[in-house]
Amino acid sequence: MNTKAFALRHIGPREDDQNLMLKTIGVDSLDQLIYETIPDDIRLKNGLNLDEPMTEHEYLLHIHDLSKLNKARKTYIGLGYHPTVMPAVIQRNILENPGWYTAYTPYQAEIAQGRLEALLNFQTMVIDLTGMEIANASLLDESTAAAEAMSLLFAVRERSQKKAGVNKFFVSENTLPQTLSLLQTRSAPIGVELVVGNEDTFDFSKEFFGALLQYPGKDGQITDIKTFINKANNADIKVAVAADILSLVKLEAPGKFGADVVVGTTQRFGIPMGYGGPHAAFFATKEAYKRDLPGRIIGVTKDANGNRALRMALQTREQHIKRDRATSNICTAQVLLAVMASMYAVYHGPKGLKFIANKIHNKAATLANALTKLGYEQVNTSYFDTLQIKTKAKKIKKIASEKKVNLHYPDKKTVTISINETTAIRDINYLISIFAEAAQKETIEISSVEEAHNIEQSVQRNTEFLTDTVFNTYHSETELMRYIKSLERKDLSLNHSMIPLGSCTMKLNAAAELLPLSWFKWGNIHPFAPLKQAKGYLTVLKELEDQLTEITGFAATSLQPNSGAQGEFAGLMVIKAYHESRGDHHRNICLIPSSAHGTNPASAVMAGMKVVVTKSTDEGNIDVDDLREKAELHKDNLSCIMVTYPSTHGVYESAIKEITKIIHDNGGQVYMDGANMNAQVGLTNPGNIGADVCHLNLHKTFAIPHGGGGPGVGPICVAKQLVPFLPGNPIVKTGGDKAITAISAAPFGSALVCLISYGYIKMLGAEGLTQATKIAILNANYIKHRLQGSFDTLYSGERGRAAHEMIVDCRAFKEHGIEVSDIAKRLMDYGFHAPTVSFPVAGTLMIEPTESESKAEMDRFCDAMISIKKEIDQASKDDTNNVLKNAPHTLEMITNDEWHFPYTRQEAAFPLEYVKDNKFWPSVRRVDDAYGDRNLICSCTPIEAYGEA
Ligand SMILES: *Cc1c(COP(=O)(O)O)cnc(C)c1O
Repeated sequence: MNTKAFALRHIGPREDDQNLMLKTIGVDSLDQLIYETIPDDIRLKNGLNLDEPMTEHEYLLHIHDLSKLNKARKTYIGLGYHPTVMPAVIQRNILENPGWYTAYTPYQAEIAQGRLEALLNFQTMVIDLTGMEIANASLLDESTAAAEAMSLLFAVRERSQKKAGVNKFFVSENTLPQTLSLLQTRSAPIGVELVVGNEDTFDFSKEFFGALLQYPGKDGQITDIKTFINKANNADIKVAVAADILSLVKLEAPGKFGADVVVGTTQRFGIPMGYGGPHAAFFATKEAYKRDLPGRIIGVTKDANGNRALRMALQTREQHIKRDRATSNICTAQVLLAVMASMYAVYHGPKGLKFIANKIHNKAATLANALTKLGYEQVNTSYFDTLQIKTKAKKIKKIASEKKVNLHYPDKKTVTISINETTAIRDINYLISIFAEAAQKETIEISSVEEAHNIEQSVQRNTEFLTDTVFNTYHSETELMRYIKSLERKDLSLNHSMIPLGSCTMKLNAAAELLPLSWFKWGNIHPFAPLKQAKGYLTVLKELEDQLTEITGFAATSLQPNSGAQGEFAGLMVIKAYHESRGDHHRNICLIPSSAHGTNPASAVMAGMKVVVTKSTDEGNIDVDDLREKAELHKDNLSCIMVTYPSTHGVYESAIKEITKIIHDNGGQVYMDGANMNAQVGLTNPGNIGADVCHLNLHKTFAIPHGGGGPGVGPICVAKQLVPFLPGNPIVKTGGDKAITAISAAPFGSALVCLISYGYIKMLGAEGLTQATKIAILNANYIKHRLQGSFDTLYSGERGRAAHEMIVDCRAFKEHGIEVSDIAKRLMDYGFHAPTVSFPVAGTLMIEPTESESKAEMDRFCDAMISIKKEIDQASKDDTNNVLKNAPHTLEMITNDEWHFPYTRQEAAFPLEYVKDNKFWPSVRRVDDAYGDRNLICSCTPIEAYGEA
């Protein structure tokens, strides 16, 4: 046995344990189990065709070699991405710390107060800098945030009686090209007509419901948003502003001028460019629109003792509740990146940010003066960091390229230069020398930076920001390190215990997969840098595409979508483009089984489709007769079906091939939601099942950590007929020959974290990947078996087996007055994060152990569940003072001099022996959700400010 094989590190149960587990569940071998689990007719005949696996050491050498093919040149391209300085204390304590990156989305608030606080800081930072009333805790990138702004303004237009039926949206021509492309993608399907034009000559006609401005514009000139918003308000046109967050330190907050929405990216707050992402976008708006806000809002509430506690507010599970009436399909966002950006603001504070912004502005002005002296025409009259030079671009480009400098050349007569946090005086001199050479003049040497005020008086910032204590306390490294640690200790992550979240696949995020993310030559590549400087990336991304194409059994892959839900939208838009290419513009019916994840119907509506829900049988399968009936009924207009496989009920439906055939026979395409790919890799695949497109969640199956709710990557893999339509990018050519417009801002989405999945596949190889799938299925069936007698499993395959996850029924416990949420909270006392609660069936838990969990850990979890079942048996409807209803128990409760509970402290906090070795203390008691929604507070406000409303 090669004890260095990565598969041995990734897969939890040792061989002896595997044998014990097989015996326990009553099969002779792993292959026997797989035979009993996966229907024969969909099993792959041959293994995957992938490279031989590398050990971790070999992989790190390999990825280091590839990094050398990237040229991290001095880059002044701008366009929404800038070199930045990630404080080392944030890199080491957050980015490289599994306590932060392996956490799940903070649905279980009592064991997530740390990241909730960091996200509340993020929202406060955004609210302060934008001058708006509320903000969410991150969206995927600036361009998708701008599209969400457009959708929000379109949705609220109906409430303005004057605007009913009005569908034109104005977009400034000075908007970033990738944002424009994304607005095109997102506007047409929902019936918005985009009008791109010059904001100075815009006529504020009543036919417009909204407008989007870039602040400062893409060429660097600061837009006069004050005048524009004024006029727009008079015409009842709502205005969204896409703002550069660092510039807002010096520019007046758009909220001051009456903007309705402000969006942007926080990449400049210490996040590496990473060839396009991931970075956290922000979205801020008025309180009046709080119910239309996409993504997640963190709110303040109180716990059972009346202490301050944080939680996700309002539409937390929005897609699952509202489905095709949801305001957006955003589920995974960019939590880890939002946490890091918020810490950048905590570390630097308002004074530090002003120092950084002033330095950038002054350096830009110093450069402008020198270039003017050399005879160049710098045309921006009011700017923050970007100069616009009118000259022969070709000449400058030639010299700059020779001198290894990246500038931006929007047209033949224009060069733009964006100064950033890393720009030194030496760099300014180097830039001057390039222009001097082009002008054939003696260069001008500068030795200091002049104080500058090249920002129009009317938009100079006067309002304070980041005045809260948290932004004015942790400015030494010791203090910040301890603050980060104090938050981390409140959160239960994979480095404490198993997180058995069904449908979310919380598996190992191996250190070797993650190490390269910190490396300079992966972090410091601009997404619009010339392709020859990004050869390392292009090699990795191409190979990852090929690997995923092979694994899914399709013809091609696009890595652009940066979440699963974005993948769904992308896949549907590709299907739509395919139908339209054949003249089938009318095909707009999307069949979705009732058990589908809520993002499915939400994405279908975004793609302009009409959702028709099909029934499930009592066994949890798709009701094939109902499906056939609906497919035939709508055959003239059928666009597609969205189907999850194995089903969200954790079953490999044996009718799947029949289902895909019914859809094809009626002219539709088959979209497979690939969130459950962990149950397929190496054993079956979507292509084999008869699907035409699927998205994958690289942050589930392919080892990208959840990061507390992002980043994610949701690539789509497609069959041959759909390849020409894969999404493009307006600056870097990507996608098919007839590419649809952009789905994400960057050409390859969140390229940096794609390294993780690439490493995962490289190190496991065909055999390791297949073994991982088999063990994921073994682990699930082992838990199913161990819980038998305590919990009933809803749904199983034809031979009584679970897939890689299972649903346990908790509805009968209502007799004892116990809800499924009580079990979730009680698990915290045992040191576990709850499984998925009430999805896809209300009143149930969905458990998914993944292949990475060892037998010992699963045994602890099962012991906890069985012990909780005994507690449930003792509970009574008539008395809610019990160990379940009072859960979770905090250290403060346990050590309190008073104890009013009918069970012992020991039973409350140390219910099983193993808990004593590794106790996790929830930092607050059960949070009050209703109170928080009634009194929405989503920024750091002094405690006195939120008394009973
Ligand atoms: C996780 C998941 C999604 C959504 O993925 P995000 O990355 O969170 O947008 C969609 N469908 C299913 C079945 C999922 O489990």
